[in-house]
Amino acid sequence: MSTDKNKITLPMFCNQCGLSAPNGCGSSGQDQGTCGKSDTIARLQDILIFGIKGLAAYREHARELGADTRPVDDIIAETLYFTMTNVNFSFDLHIEQLMKVGRVGVEVMNLLSDAHTQAMGIPTPVKVSQNKAEGHAILVTGHNLTMLQKLLAATEGKGINVYTHSEMLPAHGYPELRRHAHLKGNIGGAWHDQNKLFSAFSGTIIASTNCLAPLKKNANYANRLYGYKITSIEGIKHIENDDFAPLIAQTLELPPVTGFNVEHHITTGHHYKTILTLAPRVVEAVQQGALRQFFVIAGCDSPGSAGDYYRKLAQSLPDDCVILTTSCGKFRFNDLDFGTIGNTGIPRFLDLGQCNDSIGAVHLALALSQALNLPLEQLPVRIVLSWMEQKAVIILLALFSLGIKNIAIGPKPPQFLNDGIFEFLAQNFNLKMIGDVETDLQEMLIKRADKAA
Ligand code: SF4
Ligand code: SF4
Repeated sequence: MSTDKNKITLPMFCNQCGLSAPNGCGSSGQDQGTCGKSDTIARLQDILIFGIKGLAAYREHARELGADTRPVDDIIAETLYFTMTNVNFSFDLHIEQLMKVGRVGVEVMNLLSDAHTQAMGIPTPVKVSQNKAEGHAILVTGHNLTMLQKLLAATEGKGINVYTHSEMLPAHGYPELRRHAHLKGNIGGAWHDQNKLFSAFSGTIIASTNCLAPLKKNANYANRLYGYKITSIEGIKHIENDDFAPLIAQTLELPPVTGFNVEHHITTGHHYKTILTLAPRVVEAVQQGALRQFFVIAGCDSPGSAGDYYRKLAQSLPDDCVILTTSCGKFRFNDLDFGTIGNTGIPRFLDLGQCNDSIGAVHLALALSQALNLPLEQLPVRIVLSWMEQKAVIILLALFSLGIKNIAIGPKPPQFLNDGIFEFLAQNFNLKMIGDVETDLQEMLIKRADKAA
């Protein structure tokens, strides 16, 4: 992990207590704090905090839908306590706490998934119009499906079209959301296109959660952008107590949206509960050799060309491989038509949903493991994740806690790891950084005697 480009310049930093060195322990190159905390323990504590931030996000959405989140709340509190000054200096116990957080990550993603499907039905595959918009229109970004459900009810029959952006795309798969005919389509890609996209989209916009980009100085959409609950930026409007009336009134005052006339469709709605119904066909295809391997290419996206890796990887996979994806990283390649596995009817591209739906890949892997009578590590599955923020941390911890190995991550090494922690993860979970597509594929792809790899 240590290349010059990715060198961590401040291996240790902590300023949380009165024993802190001036400007923080580590700020003058100390590799341990005044209390005796080492750089590795400081970094493990950072990872714990980042993990529970991700946990808290999913917990909030599950709680909004009435789920019992007490076990999650307890682990959040316990972990915060764990990272206090002079509580714990043991490497092994920090790893154990990380696994505890990961196990609750699995629990909270299942809670949220079940809460979503109970409230909105089980998603089924759907083709969604991409970059075509008309009429008085609201664009909805973020992850909060509950907010979208309330907004669709509030705008019913009002002459308003509702469009999704980024992590809202999977909304179209949910029967209780897509029954609203005015939920029309999706506009744009991953979260980081929003300055350009929101400037071009002349309707109103509502940000239901992260990822929200700060306004650029020349942004023309501040007076058309609304925050929701804890999501906001200085200078924009805010929805209070689920009262969408001001947003609706402004949407109707603004002229109809123009400039989005593309005739293109993307597919979503392959929730794991729907895909499980394909299991017998999938197992047969694997056993007969028609389906060689599954690649989970999933995770967050960040600006820049480093993320092109994931498009190239998806494009380079042989036509007997299936891609499972989640989160906004999918916009790197979900415009492509991957077709089906031979004449089996099994789609080669399966969009399981939002980042929290990553747990769906685990359910599918467990079902496959049972059907093929193979342990998880022997399944024809490889996981290649892109990470950006702290929900990706809880997803990674959740996978580790389940004992899932052979994960490659990118596009950049997390700066909160140090060499020692990375080596531990490499040795125990075979965690790797992505490299270049050709070399990685050579290593990841199961070789076939009868086909060119
Ligand atoms: S907890 Fe330890 S490492 Fe952190 S500021 Fe206090 S003395 Fe320094
Ligand atoms: S998947 Fe990650 S990067 Fe993308 S919008 Fe969600 S939280 Fe942000």
